[in-house]
Amino acid sequence: MIKKLIAPLLLFVVMVGILATIVVVGFVMMMTIFMSDDEYADDESLGIMGGNVVCSANGKVDKTAWNGFWDSDNANNLKGYGDLVLEHSKSVGIDPVLATAVMMQESGSGKFTSKNNPGGIMDWDNNFKTKRQFATMDDGIKYVIENLGRRILNDGLVSIEELGSKYAPIGAANDPQGLNKNWVPGVTGFVGQLGGLTMNCSEVAGGLSAGSVEIKGDIAWVVPETKRITSRYGPRSCSGCSSFHRGIDVGGAGRTGHAIVSMAKGEVIRAHTGCALNNSWGCGSGFGNHVYVKHEDGTVSRYAHLSAVNVRVGQKVGAGQLLGLLGNSGNSTGPHLHFEVLPDGQTQIDPYPIFQSKGLLP
Ligand SMILES: [Zn+2]
Repeated sequence: MIKKLIAPLLLFVVMVGILATIVVVGFVMMMTIFMSDDEYADDESLGIMGGNVVCSANGKVDKTAWNGFWDSDNANNLKGYGDLVLEHSKSVGIDPVLATAVMMQESGSGKFTSKNNPGGIMDWDNNFKTKRQFATMDDGIKYVIENLGRRILNDGLVSIEELGSKYAPIGAANDPQGLNKNWVPGVTGFVGQLGGLTMNCSEVAGGLSAGSVEIKGDIAWVVPETKRITSRYGPRSCSGCSSFHRGIDVGGAGRTGHAIVSMAKGEVIRAHTGCALNNSWGCGSGFGNHVYVKHEDGTVSRYAHLSAVNVRVGQKVGAGQLLGLLGNSGNSTGPHLHFEVLPDGQTQIDPYPIFQSKGLLP
């Protein structure tokens, strides 16, 4: 009797096992498909895609991003030291955003701060064999900033890449696991979270420099370096494009990499990356790499076909703050920004009069 039961029982167990596997694998696949649309890989959403540095649009510390970072648990053991870092960086004469990013990278987001040493400084009294002990965290932070100041001001290492070659040389003997290659993307990522570098930004792709962003009232023009409109909102006839154009196109050939900034203050509600940079048809639902910002009155602005995305979902942005770089991703036949405004978050209107009424467009 028992023997008779074993075979069907085994078969039953195997069948249940197979079914469970199918359900789990299916669920994971579905989740991957559904989530991929909103997914944003950290490295890509912070400006690594185009190989570009993240810079604040106005060359100043973004206090919302700064305080949001330093006062959050993301700073771990360094939480609350934002004011000290800001003050000391200014007195040394270096970019506080860069100082923060280097410190966060060196300390694993503020987790590795033993010996009050958030910068991984080696002990000069011990022939650089072990980490230096600092009396207080204030002392450690100040030393890290002064040391960075020497690298930047004395040695002339002004870019993240140049600093990386000193702090974390790729292929170094003391880096058998090859982790140094993470240094530059890591630091760049922290810079993005902090709202962008404030110094040495003139070399940013597109040449966005302090003061070039035009803001009238609470509205900023979205492509600071050009006002060339290649397609207006409304009905149009063209091969391969939608017959009714729900936004305006700005830019044109040769403008890849130009800065794209937020129309107004708000919060990033969508940051899609991962689309190939040219004519990646269908990617991002045709928008390619794109960003949506929700403004304080509920209006949503959309920025499509980007070559790089410099913000992440949940990030607060100001009018004129860098969101990404102009590109040709998704359903696009040439470099341009496709820009939309949806007052209720659902339906597009013609964005042109918004800028026109502020004197930002003719
Ligand atoms: Zn368009």
